[in-house]
Amino acid sequence: SLAGKTAVITGSNSGIGLGIAWELAKAGADVVLNSFTDADEDHALAREISETTGTAARYIQADMSNGDQCRQLIETAGRCDILVNNAGIQHVAAIPEFPVEKWDAIIAINLSSAFHTTAAALPMMRSAGWGRVVNIASAHGLTASPYKSAYIAAKHGIVGLTKTTALETAKEPITANAICPGYVLTPIVEKQIPDTMKEYDMSREEVIENVMLTRQPSKEFATVEQMGGTATFLCSDAAAQITGTTISVDGGWTAL
Ligand code: NAD
Repeated sequence: SLAGKTAVITGSNSGIGLGIAWELAKAGADVVLNSFTDADEDHALAREISETTGTAARYIQADMSNGDQCRQLIETAGRCDILVNNAGIQHVAAIPEFPVEKWDAIIAINLSSAFHTTAAALPMMRSAGWGRVVNIASAHGLTASPYKSAYIAAKHGIVGLTKTTALETAKEPITANAICPGYVLTPIVEKQIPDTMKEYDMSREEVIENVMLTRQPSKEFATVEQMGGTATFLCSDAAAQITGTTISVDGGWTAL
């Protein structure tokens, strides 16, 4: 059980981050949800998790594109036994046309935020005598596709940061690993379906099977619950010697 542990999950008011928060709370952890907004619905998500699981859940606003706010998130949480770096955005364009501000935002949110939160969280894990860093990379942290230069650079970068974090904590009861999801049907992916249907003149089913899941041999989306289950496993005693590595949850994508 993760009772008595506090988990901070960045970018967790939707999708994979929220799914991970739910599974960690079901396993007994007190969770801290986060995004850059500060809406009633954000705080309502935390209340729903608390009421359902009987654990303490809070929502803390912080913008992961800002290094100081990343560190402030961990300080405001007050303790951080489990750090899940999940916040992420995407932009699709060829390199010569890739908007510089999108490049900078993706590197900041998808990569630098994890450096800042890890820097703030490791001293807390050390004084608690236990810690888990779970970084959400991607199949695109291990392989590439055209037109996603910033995202792929950031995701390969977070795999490197994960390995370095693991080496710096190797002799301590702290581990650092990255989960590499294939396609998961979250808002970030759902939003792309109508436009892709128009572009290719395809049905929803054709877009899913022939465009999105071409590289996912299972031809099925992974789920946010599966990401939560994988994160929970990485926090278990069975995973205490798993550190500095990646776990693919991608329906066979990286086996191709
Ligand atoms: P999503 O859009 O549902 O979730 C992204 C989360 O990040 C949201 O909660 C959003 O509010 C938050 N966020 C965005 N900008 C932020 C900022 N500046 N500060 C704080 N929070 C911010 O998408 P998702 O699919 O759940 O993505 C979560 C993570 O999983 C991302 O890192 C993404 O790259 C990764 N991932 C997703 C897939 C997929 O197929 N969905 C595959 C591989 C990896």
